[in-house]
Amino acid sequence: MEFSSKLLQNAVNEMSQLPGIGKRTALRLVLHLLRQPPTQTEYLVNALRELRTEIKFCKKCHSISDIEICEICSNPNRKNTVICVVEDIRDVMAIEATSQYRGLYHVLGGKISPLDGIGPQDLTIQSLLDKVKSGDVQELIFALSATMEGDTTNFYIYKQLEGTAVKISTIARGIGVNDELEYADEVTLGRSIINRVPFENALKNS
Ligand SMILES: [Zn+2]
Repeated sequence: MEFSSKLLQNAVNEMSQLPGIGKRTALRLVLHLLRQPPTQTEYLVNALRELRTEIKFCKKCHSISDIEICEICSNPNRKNTVICVVEDIRDVMAIEATSQYRGLYHVLGGKISPLDGIGPQDLTIQSLLDKVKSGDVQELIFALSATMEGDTTNFYIYKQLEGTAVKISTIARGIGVNDELEYADEVTLGRSIINRVPFENALKNS
């Protein structure tokens, strides 16, 4: 792509670093911003800057939060003996949208993926294990996507907790293989949480 302006080129290059945004789309977005009042761009830049400088992660569940302990973790009406293990905040949002779950969450921050160089130590797994071993947790519900990485991560955690009294279950897979949780419709996802199965059963079937 040939640019008549270095400024335009820089903006397009930065924008096209985002996933799913090719050079052409980046150019369209940048030209759109140029047609808007300058304040529009300022709001965007400020929102992104504040996001990066002020964002916090909940000290308990590791989900993105504006406060130290997120609203879910600090809600006394949530059942703190059940923890749903998810990959990121999109899963929390998807499950919350079903209104079928009243327990807490633990956000891993990704999945174990040797090919991408992501090991257990890169995720919040140790914090989860500590939480379980400290006592109050009676049940963990695995709700990672049904991918090889998701299965590997579930199995790793399961193995680490062998011999403890915690009950481990996994959401029923009405959701198709490789479907990410965030795309499952609310009814299907809600049902799969209610109809969760013991993790051992899921192991036998796979
Ligand atoms: Zn939290």
